[in-house]
Amino acid sequence: MSAATTRSRTPDRLCAEAVDLARAAAEEAAAPGVVGEHVGLVSEGDRVVTHFFECKELGYRGWRWAATVARASRAKIVTVDEAVLLPGPDAVLAPEWVPWSERLRPGDMGPGDLLPTDADDRRLEPGCTGEDEPPPNSAVSPDMADLVEAEELEVTDAPPAKLAVAPSRGSIAAVAEELGMRRARVLSRYGLRVAADRWEEAFGSKTPMAQAAPAACVSCGFLVPIGGSLGQAFGVCANEFSPADGRVVSLAYGCGGHSEAAVMPRPPQPAPPVIDETRVDPFPLRPAPDSGSVPEVTDEETAELGHS
Ligand code: SF4
Repeated sequence: MSAATTRSRTPDRLCAEAVDLARAAAEEAAAPGVVGEHVGLVSEGDRVVTHFFECKELGYRGWRWAATVARASRAKIVTVDEAVLLPGPDAVLAPEWVPWSERLRPGDMGPGDLLPTDADDRRLEPGCTGEDEPPPNSAVSPDMADLVEAEELEVTDAPPAKLAVAPSRGSIAAVAEELGMRRARVLSRYGLRVAADRWEEAFGSKTPMAQAAPAACVSCGFLVPIGGSLGQAFGVCANEFSPADGRVVSLAYGCGGHSEAAVMPRPPQPAPPVIDETRVDPFPLRPAPDSGSVPEVTDEETAELGHS
C-alpha cells in the first residue's frame, strides 16, 4: 500500500484488505498478464475503496488498473464495483484538446481558406449601420411617404402628390457608402490596441534594428502615412531595401535605409585639361639679368617669335 496515494480519510479495513478480490476483478477486465503489483489504494467514501495495480502493457506507461470494492453497512462481504484502466500521475497522455479557433496562429490561413469571426469578436464593433436614416415613423421617412400616398389614393382618385422624403444623398450613410466606409463592423478600441501592440513588437522602437538606426521613421521620406487613429503612431515603409518594406512600422522604428541617414557621395569631377591649345603661352628667351628669374617677354620679342 502506498502512503502517497492513500487519502486522509481512513479506508474501510475489510475493503482495504480485499486486495486479492480487487486483483481478480482487474485481471478479469484486463488482458492476461498485464496486471502488475499493487501500488496503492484510496478511500472513495464509507466502505468504498479503490485498489490500484501497475499496468504492464507497453503502450500504457504510468497507467494503473483500478478496481473499486465496497461492502454494505454491517455486512462482512466485500464485493466488486468496477475495474477500469486509469492514468496515473506519470501517465503518458495526449495533450488536452484545443478547439481549432484557439489553435490558429498568424500565417496559418492559406489560399481558399475562410476564417469566420465571432458575432461578439472583441476586436470588432458595429460600423456605420445606417441608423442616421430617419426613423420609420418620421414624417420624412420612406415608410411614411408610402402610407400617405396610399391614404390620398383612398380619399381622392387623383394621383397623389409625392411627399418629399429625406434625400438619401447627403446622409451620413450615403456619404459613408460613397466613400466605401459603410461596413457592418469596424475595429473596436480593443482591436486597435492589440493590432498596435503586435505591430509595435514587430517593427517598433525596441527592436534591435530600430535601436541601431541612425534616425526614426517619422522623419524618413520613405514613410507612407496611414489614415485613422493608428496613423498617429504608424505608417507604411516604402523602401524596397528596408526589412520593413510594405509593412506597417511604428513612427519610432527606423533602419539604415532612412532617407536622410547618409547622402550618396557625388562622383568625382575630372580635373580641367592641363593643355590649352587655344592660347599662346608667352615663353621668355633669356632670364632677366639681375633677378635670375624668368624675365617678362616684351611685345617686340613676341612679334619676333611670331615672324621666325
Ligand atoms: S526606410 Fe527605414 S527609416 Fe525609412 S520608413 Fe522604412 S523602415 Fe523607416
